[in-house]
Amino acid sequence: MSKFALILLLSILTSCMSSSSRQEAATKNSQKTKPVKAIFPVKGLSIKSPKPASLDRFVKFIDEELSSMGVNTIMLRIGYDYQYSSHPELVNEGALSNAEAKRIVAVCKKHDIKLIPAINLLGHQSWHSKVYKLLEVYPQFDETPHVKLPEKYEWPNADKLYCKSYCPEHPDVHKVVFALIDELVAVCEADSFHAGMDEVFYLGDDKCPRCAGKDKAKLFADEVIRIHSHLKKSNTKMWMWGDRLIDGKATAMGFWEASENGTHRAIDLIPKDITIADWHYERADPTAVLFAAKGFDVVTVPWRLPDVTIEQLNQTISNRKNSADGMKQRFQGMMLTSWYGPDSFMDRYYQITENTLKKGDSMKTFKLLFEQINQLEKSP
Ligand SMILES: [Zn+2]
Repeated sequence: MSKFALILLLSILTSCMSSSSRQEAATKNSQKTKPVKAIFPVKGLSIKSPKPASLDRFVKFIDEELSSMGVNTIMLRIGYDYQYSSHPELVNEGALSNAEAKRIVAVCKKHDIKLIPAINLLGHQSWHSKVYKLLEVYPQFDETPHVKLPEKYEWPNADKLYCKSYCPEHPDVHKVVFALIDELVAVCEADSFHAGMDEVFYLGDDKCPRCAGKDKAKLFADEVIRIHSHLKKSNTKMWMWGDRLIDGKATAMGFWEASENGTHRAIDLIPKDITIADWHYERADPTAVLFAAKGFDVVTVPWRLPDVTIEQLNQTISNRKNSADGMKQRFQGMMLTSWYGPDSFMDRYYQITENTLKKGDSMKTFKLLFEQINQLEKSP
């Protein structure tokens, strides 16, 4: 082969190679930039806020893991674990400072993750044997002051005690809780706030001087309306759990994930621009349709059962596909809830292997849900 021919051959080869590697790069690029069609707007995780000692790890977890999994909404259950300047007397030990909370805000912003702060209002003001800050500091707000927390809790019990509630008719309670809401919404730079309000068993107690004898649906709705109206002033969208708005007897769902004390009628008394977080952990009860048909945006919330969660995912997709145009967008998506603390959740995320995962594990379910969502979004 002459020198000229060799140069020509080399030049052709180089040109072919570079053209093929350019093509490869272009393909890779187009794969990278190919717009992914979101199957629904909310792809969420509900989790307790971290303690300051775990903050670095939590921020890294959002930055590296949750963002790449496609989580776009975090409901952060902060409660009394923030250093409120309006009510320092209500701050738990080891609460996040403003600067610490801002680090979570920053990493969420970086990845376009919607951060929804949460305080559980009305119910869940105690755990079985421990009263939480609001009622510890302001025992006059207790709906059932005559019910004493036992040293050793058992269910069922004579008092039907699950968690304490504050009295929604107490004239001073809202001044306090609204100040907390305002601070959290401000520090989180949030456009939505989750007010909890699940599993409220103590409401309109016969011994409450303000509530006795009143219609429980009205008491519940009035409290929702107060919180909603307050949030409206800062143009903040209200989220809440849906269980108290479902008729537990008619649906046969019982008194945990639905209401058997009459509060379900509040569904027709409250504003429709509230997003309902519709949690069902044991079965894929199709109650998202109930909320959407009443005019609410609804987010379906699974926990730890993979089969149930995938069924809920399929329902959400099917509801969006089969509903009329004006209704389909109300099925906003899904938000898995973790009842592990954030440390335990992160430990499981990084350490547990498939072999050690048990049935009924929320980490397994979390990973499976997002794998499925990502797969569906990638398919043509
Ligand atoms: Zn009361």
